Amino acid sequence: MSTTDIPTQPNSATRTNHPLMLPVVITMDGPSASGKGTLARRLAKELGYTYVDSGAMYRTLAWYCLQKQLPLPVKAAELTPETEKPVISLMRRWKAELKIVEGAIWLQVDGYFPKAEIRSDVVEKAVPIIAQIGKVRDWMVARQRDCVKFGPLVMEGRDIGTEVFPLATLKFFLDANPAARAKRMQGRGNTACTERDKLDMNRRQGALIPALDAIRVDNTGQTVDETFALLMEHVRARMKPGQP
Ligand code: C5P
Repeated sequence: MSTTDIPTQPNSATRTNHPLMLPVVITMDGPSASGKGTLARRLAKELGYTYVDSGAMYRTLAWYCLQKQLPLPVKAAELTPETEKPVISLMRRWKAELKIVEGAIWLQVDGYFPKAEIRSDVVEKAVPIIAQIGKVRDWMVARQRDCVKFGPLVMEGRDIGTEVFPLATLKFFLDANPAARAKRMQGRGNTACTERDKLDMNRRQGALIPALDAIRVDNTGQTVDETFALLMEHVRARMKPGQP
């Protein structure tokens, strides 16, 4: 079977004729440096689906809060209704819009996507804290679900298979052992992510945890090509033509 046989969904114009069809979504969750970004992007390209980096959406909000010089809590223990309030009220007012650019969806603020800025150390520190705020998560989950209007998706994140698309067509949960992930982070010039992963795993809402029906892939010691081939085997086996 070739990849062109793998089902897509009708676009929004024709979907009204198929009101009961579920959107086609492949979810890719996992901790930092588990390879989910690289593999989700490659899978989307191979299948002709749209790629969504949900982490970039949380990062964009963190960046925007820092731009606006909000007094952000620096530890999860500092989150209270009072300290969460400025973030929530800013999020209610910001002009954020989903835009598709070269096969990927990004959240733009005032028509701008802060591609480089969201990778800075200050954003990296702030993002897992604001990602603990229940109302922030509700807003993000709603926007992530809105992405189906752009057609079939591969979406990567932490809670995509559990919270955002619990009925997704196919779910992956990627991981690698801590030494392998630390090496990958070093290679990218990033600081260690252990603290961020710990916060993501232990939050009350949208915790980083594999969905019960996710295919778990430990890619320690594998090349990207090897993991990609394995994911494609699952795609071919599970997504038969005519079975969305
Ligand atoms: O994937 P990335 O490392 O860019 O995500 C940055 C942060 O955004 C994560 O550490 C997490 O705190 C938050 N995030 C989340 N839920 C997602 C994606 C990212 O809470 N679905």
